[in-house]
Amino acid sequence: MPENRVVEGRMVTAEKLAELIEGESVLEAEAIEDADRECPDCGGDVLTVGYMPTVTEFVSGYKCQECSWAETNRE
Ligand SMILES: [Zn+2]
Repeated sequence: MPENRVVEGRMVTAEKLAELIEGESVLEAEAIEDADRECPDCGGDVLTVGYMPTVTEFVSGYKCQECSWAETNRE
């Protein structure tokens, strides 16, 4: 059962959170987890979600719950 979380005041699913990080739709997303880090912009709590933007790529994405900050583990 997917767990929804509040991000920037909206309830989001794992797929929606991955879309916010990626900027476009993704194929598949794992469950949202709490990342053990603070947002560098506002100090807010950061969530992490693993997702597949394409069939050949797996990305760990990070997103602040309070502001628009996001990043991925892509080099
Ligand atoms: Zn933030």
